[in-house]
Amino acid sequence: MNSGCLLQTRGVGVRFGGISAVQDFSFQVNEGELVGLLGPNGAGKTTLLRLISGVVPPSEGEIIFRDERINRLKSPARAQRGIALSHQIVRPFRSMTLIENVVLAAGAPITRTPWRALGTMDRHHLRSEAMQYLEKVGIAQIADRLPSAQPLGVLKRLEVARALATKPRLLLLDEPLAGLGHAEAIRLADLILELNAAGTTIVLIEHNLAEVIRICPRIVVLNNGQKMADGPAADVMRNPAVIDAYLGEG
Ligand code: ATP
Repeated sequence: MNSGCLLQTRGVGVRFGGISAVQDFSFQVNEGELVGLLGPNGAGKTTLLRLISGVVPPSEGEIIFRDERINRLKSPARAQRGIALSHQIVRPFRSMTLIENVVLAAGAPITRTPWRALGTMDRHHLRSEAMQYLEKVGIAQIADRLPSAQPLGVLKRLEVARALATKPRLLLLDEPLAGLGHAEAIRLADLILELNAAGTTIVLIEHNLAEVIRICPRIVVLNNGQKMADGPAADVMRNPAVIDAYLGEG
C-alpha cells in the first residue's frame, strides 16, 4: 500500500437479487483528497458509499481502511474508525433542537448513556463540542431552534455537522447540494472545500457538475456499477466514454 493511503477497495461488489449494483470496483483514496463521484442515476454511487460505510456488506472484494480489512465490520465499528456517511435525504430528530441533534451524533460512538443520565460536566462538554461543529457549518446562531421550521440549506448543513461530530477521517457526502438553489449550493460547496482544506478527506457524490468540477481535483465516474473513469477532473471531463454515458444525457 502507498503511504498516505486512507481507503482502498479491491474488486468490491454487491448484488441485490439479480442486479449487480456495484461490480469489481477498485480504487484508492489518499489522506487529504477531495474526490467527486459521478455517474448517471442508478449507476451505483450511493451503494458504493454504503459499502464503504458498512450499511451494506459486500458480496465480493475487500475494503481496507488505514491498513485494516474492514469488510466484515458493521457501520458503528467503521464509524468508530473514522468513516462517516452523510445521507442524501436529511432526517434529523424533529423533536430535538439543532444542537441536540449534533450532541446525539457526537455522543453516539463514545457513550450509550442517555442524555438525561449524563452528569452536568459531560452535558456541558458535549454541548460546547457540538456548538463548534454548528459554528463550522455556519448555523451556530440558530442552535436552539427545532429542525422543522428550517429551510433545506440549514438541514443540509446540520447533516454535515452531525457527520463531523463523529470526528471522521473520511467523510462520505451523498448529494449534499441536491435541492439547493444556485447561491446556497455554491456556499455549501465552499464549505466542503474548507473542510477538506482543514484536513478532512472527502468523497462526494454530486449531480451538480459545475460545483464538482470547481471543487474536486479528482473525479471518479461510475456507470452500471463499474468504474468508467478515474483521474484529474479536467481529463475525466474530456473522456469520450464519460461524455457518451453521462454528460451526453439529455
Ligand atoms: P442516483 O444518482 O439516482 O442516486 P446511484 O448511482 O446512487 O443513483 P444506487 O442508488 O446505488 O445508484 O443504485 C444502483 C442500483 O442498485 C439501482 O439499480 C438500484 O435500483 C439498485 N439498488 C440499490 N439499493 C438497493 C436495494 N437495497 N435493494 C435492491 N436494489 C437496490
